[in-house]
Amino acid sequence: MDRRQFLASLSVGSLGLMGLPNAWAEDSNTPVLFPVPTNTGISGRIVIVGGGMSGAAVAKYLRLWGGTGVAVTLVEASPSYTSNIMSNTVLTGQRTLASLNYTYGTLVSHYGVTRVNAKVSGINRAAKYVTLEGGGTISYDRLVLAPGLDFDLMPGMSSLAEYETLVPHAWKAGPQTQLLRNQLLAMPAGQNVVLTIPKAPYRCPPGPYERVCVIADWLKQNKAGSRIIVLDANADIIVEKENFSHAFTTLYAGVVDYRPGCTVTHVASASRVVTYDQSLNGIPMASQAQVQAAVLNPIPPQRAPQLLKDAGLLSTDPAKPFAPVNVLTYQSTVDPLVHVIGDASLTTQPKAGHIGNQQGKTCADAVLRLQSGRPMNAQVVTNSACYTPITATTATWLSAMYQYDPATGTMVILPQHNNGKAIAASSATSDNYQDMQRWFTTLMGETFS
Ligand SMILES: Cc1cc2nc3c(=O)[nH]c(=O)nc-3n(C[C@H](O)[C@H](O)[C@H](O)COP(=O)(O)OP(=O)(O)OC[C@H]3O[C@@H](n4cnc5c(N)ncnc54)[C@H](O)[C@@H]3O)c2cc1C
Repeated sequence: MDRRQFLASLSVGSLGLMGLPNAWAEDSNTPVLFPVPTNTGISGRIVIVGGGMSGAAVAKYLRLWGGTGVAVTLVEASPSYTSNIMSNTVLTGQRTLASLNYTYGTLVSHYGVTRVNAKVSGINRAAKYVTLEGGGTISYDRLVLAPGLDFDLMPGMSSLAEYETLVPHAWKAGPQTQLLRNQLLAMPAGQNVVLTIPKAPYRCPPGPYERVCVIADWLKQNKAGSRIIVLDANADIIVEKENFSHAFTTLYAGVVDYRPGCTVTHVASASRVVTYDQSLNGIPMASQAQVQAAVLNPIPPQRAPQLLKDAGLLSTDPAKPFAPVNVLTYQSTVDPLVHVIGDASLTTQPKAGHIGNQQGKTCADAVLRLQSGRPMNAQVVTNSACYTPITATTATWLSAMYQYDPATGTMVILPQHNNGKAIAASSATSDNYQDMQRWFTTLMGETFS
């Protein structure tokens, strides 16, 4: 039974509208909103922690597909959401942070989601409630965790505050993005930016290489003689290698200095000196080498938030500090009443906003089936798409379709989709740049309205 059949099988009113994605008015960016059905016969108290790309999507679709009997509470620490997607263009002044701001008004007023503006500080799985920082608890029948990521300290750093004041990672869009922009503006021409990339898996695989490109483009126009030195912990560019290599060695020849296989051993935040070892194919190339940055942008190693660790939901493999899940339902492998979606989950799909939106929908469908005793959909398909600005006017893209593979219990790229590999644009074009703007507007509208 596919989702359409599943929805059609429900003995409720408003069937003609249920399950349909919202449409878009042809002449504007305004979505045409379909009403939430009054009652589908499905009930339950679903609490969601985190209203980002995956949490907002699951909240919306639980109500859109589940109807008014499903009580959805979205607990989000911030009053509004700032999109990471497109935030690299804030660094170059092409966008403002304010243009990346999304509010929860439509989720509340149109879909009837109950919003709680608070940080969840604890999870009691035995008694099925979450605790709020500042006091109070919220009970659940099912809990959906969508809190994104936490960031580790780089070696040599003593406090996360160093990211806030001296060496912004800006890998969560917000004040650090603005700080990095201000530092770039204030940097004297001829001096260097240093950017470090952690070992995969990390949030948004093409993101660091995209950032290198847009900063290099901006340096070329605004800071003559400056370079961006890239210390990549990975042995090579991990996605879209042809496009990024081409950009680094032709468009940005003499501006981008890309160094793969680098393990950062020390970051001195105040003096902005980075010490690292480099080795390629097991052969040491440099030991305790140092670079001096005028602007230092260390992108730190990442992991699921401490909240999930404290609740015993994380993998014991130190190289994969995320929450293992059943990708048909996003139920934690530790607790079937807890679902984990988005960057905090451990799956074979990329940690990306587009995938987070897809995981939110898959999870909403599974929660409604579980709450109503219906069989699971065993043919889950998700789609990932990332557009990447390469210059101020051109972009590339990377896309893949994933399908559930019962043999491995994982999501794999559809064999008929480019022989099981992600597809990338053949070159950076201005058409792709226009498509990127449309894709972004659609994805964000589809998630938050
Ligand atoms: C520079 C950059 C560019 C990117 N570009 C792309 C792109 O082109 N395409 C793409 O698909 N992806 C892109 N991404 C990745 C994308 O932004 C993330 O993968 C996505 O946001 C993850 O969604 P999420 O729901 O897991 O977490 P988030 O979107 O980070 O949302 C998590 C939310 O949970 C809240 N929260 C956390 N803890 C708590 C708590 N204890 N209590 C209450 N609330 C809490 C946070 O405030 C936050 O709002 C990019 C990322 C970066 C950094």
